[in-house]
Amino acid sequence: MQDTQTQTTAVCRVAIAGNPNAGKTSLFNELTGRNQSVGNYPGVTVERTEGHLHIEGQSMQLIDLPGTYSLTAYSAEELVARNFIIDEQPEVVVDVVDASNLERNLYLTVQLMEMESPLVIALNMMDVAQRHGVIIDAAKMSDLLNMPVVETVAREGKGKVSLAQACVQMAAGRCQSACAVTYGHHLDEHIDTLAARLAEDDGVCRMYRPRWVAIKLIEKDPELAQAIAKIADDADGIAMATRAAIQAIETHGGDQAESIVAEGRYGFVAGIIRRCVHTPSTERRSLTDRVDTVVCHRAFGLVLLGAIVYSLFAAVFKISDDWAWLFGDSPTGWVGRIFDGLAGLVGGLEATSPMLHSLLADGVIGGVGGVMGFVPLIFTMFFFVAILEDTGYIARVAFVLDRALRAFGLQGRSILAMIVSGGLGGGGCAVPGVMATRTLRDPRDRLITMMVAPLMNCGAKIPVYLMLIAAFFAQYQAMAMFCLWLLSWAIALICSWVLRRFVIKGEQTPFVMELPSYHMPTLRGVMRHAWGRTWTYIRKAGTIILAVSLVMWALMFFPRMDESAPAKHAGVSSVPHGGISQPADHAQCRTQLQQSYAGKMGTALLPLTEWAGFDWRDNVALVAGFAAKEVIIGTLGVAYSMGQVDPEGSEGLSEQLAGDETWSPLKALAMLIFVMVYAPCMSTLAVIRRESGSWKWACFSTTYTTVLALVLAIGVYQVGQAFGLGT
Ligand code: GDP
Ligand code: MG
Repeated sequence: MQDTQTQTTAVCRVAIAGNPNAGKTSLFNELTGRNQSVGNYPGVTVERTEGHLHIEGQSMQLIDLPGTYSLTAYSAEELVARNFIIDEQPEVVVDVVDASNLERNLYLTVQLMEMESPLVIALNMMDVAQRHGVIIDAAKMSDLLNMPVVETVAREGKGKVSLAQACVQMAAGRCQSACAVTYGHHLDEHIDTLAARLAEDDGVCRMYRPRWVAIKLIEKDPELAQAIAKIADDADGIAMATRAAIQAIETHGGDQAESIVAEGRYGFVAGIIRRCVHTPSTERRSLTDRVDTVVCHRAFGLVLLGAIVYSLFAAVFKISDDWAWLFGDSPTGWVGRIFDGLAGLVGGLEATSPMLHSLLADGVIGGVGGVMGFVPLIFTMFFFVAILEDTGYIARVAFVLDRALRAFGLQGRSILAMIVSGGLGGGGCAVPGVMATRTLRDPRDRLITMMVAPLMNCGAKIPVYLMLIAAFFAQYQAMAMFCLWLLSWAIALICSWVLRRFVIKGEQTPFVMELPSYHMPTLRGVMRHAWGRTWTYIRKAGTIILAVSLVMWALMFFPRMDESAPAKHAGVSSVPHGGISQPADHAQCRTQLQQSYAGKMGTALLPLTEWAGFDWRDNVALVAGFAAKEVIIGTLGVAYSMGQVDPEGSEGLSEQLAGDETWSPLKALAMLIFVMVYAPCMSTLAVIRRESGSWKWACFSTTYTTVLALVLAIGVYQVGQAFGLGT
């Protein structure tokens, strides 16, 4: 490929690609004045035609490639077209698109974009499209795809001058590179990971573009797999990474990887068409199209989204909390009983070894059990979110919100990252959310999204919400969750507006949202997704959460006060022990806890947080929450149960807080807002650092969210108190 470059520096080569019968030869003849010569392409005997054109002092050599629908390695024509573009690296590739048959034609366009070829689109057969009443917004398409789009009628020679000029501009490097194709966030993630792996391999990079290779390898392209095996420095490692990616994609999608990639391309095409093409309503449309006119409607789409999220919460509470399914109890009740049982088992240790008892009852059962109690709710939530995902609705949400939220400096792909982070109720996590920003073209869009995605209600914040709602707003469960959902979006939008305006300035880029066709979700698929995420949640409870809970327990247990004092009640847990609450015991336990390491830290923070109504025990829990938000529940549990001698000890944390004189609905509200907004967890920070390339943004993210959280919580609490709501 190097020798051709040196040999033709002055002549600019323009390859003409497109579907059969799109009008390539007609266009070629119009441009070259029928001055054609027919040549045999070396290696494979498929004809290609060459001709010349002079315009604006530029001499161009046109190559009419064979017509193809795709660029796989399964037919000679496709291989010729594809290898020409890769090996010869023409300065311009003109993609002739039949405007009256856009969907099929754009499928090839998408593949040319994958190759990162310098593309100019000739939107041909515009006369036919017009006759059918199809209106195509070429300027919009050009904006979205970030490449020149020229309308032509090849048979009549219309548009050929503009096309030639666009080619000259492209050859001169005056056009930007096209946007990256996106296939839906799950597939994008695997493609990006494999592409990053390939980008490290010099052997591969010398010959190919890593992202294209990643897509082709996932598509199981035999030609390219062979080529990579030969040229890669670490062929085995790449083969292994490829197998892992394919397996993950096939398990998730329940189909062959190549079909999933093809489907992703059609989704991308559908996204372009929905934005740029208006088809007359008389024309017969697919079911997906008809559903989309309602679901993707400017106003109704938003109402529908609100209704869906509200029903989601209502259903989640009904199913996991209200309905007694078996043994006269709800799923949440069953889990609660298991942990009550465990607490009863270790209860016997209290007299013999109080420290071990406190470790097990407060640290382990209190910390992990508190989180596990929410597994039924979380599972139900994941279950419904998986249904929404598998039907193809999530992509529509991003599409609908894109129009509504542009004013705030966010765009459709950012919205997708926020949905992954928990923007659709609560089944999410900011770690994949931050990674989903990779598909954003503009680095500023990426940064802004990374900064606001952690504000969404991720799965870890949900237990805190649920516990506080159960304690103080029990009658309005679904409504309260719905309001928190709205609030999280409101805060995220305002933050992104401020960031866009003052911190990370710049124009927003247009985007294509891939719109896959609707699918009937299968029970098996939905269960697999929901369970997969629930299992991650459980595993986290058993590892990170357990570890942090134990650290927090130790910080709250040590140093011991005067050893001669009766140690018996120092670490009293929530397990019933038969005694009646004695003021002296109570006071002693509180003092013990307050002078522990954690207690001292919590007390030190008081001057700041007491304005929001938080006491030192809450401070301890919130500081622990910097590690992971799930820990807040466990730590609050330990702080409130260690700190008091409670005869009715087996009551849950919710009841304890509801009965505690320092708590009020107003304080609960301040706490809810604080937990929603403050610092991303450690895992998220690590990912932000990796994706943004510096600790600067991770630190910025922690600082601004924590300050904002404090300001909001104090504001709510103080205003509420001024109105006499604090009691
Ligand atoms: P190719 O297979 O891509 O090389 O396509 P051709 O150039 O051979 O064109 C296929 C057919 O479409 C021919 O009959 C052309 O006359 C016709 N055609 C090409 N461009 C246009 C156009 O813009 N409008 C209309 N109505 N017909 C066209
Ligand atoms: Mg032809």
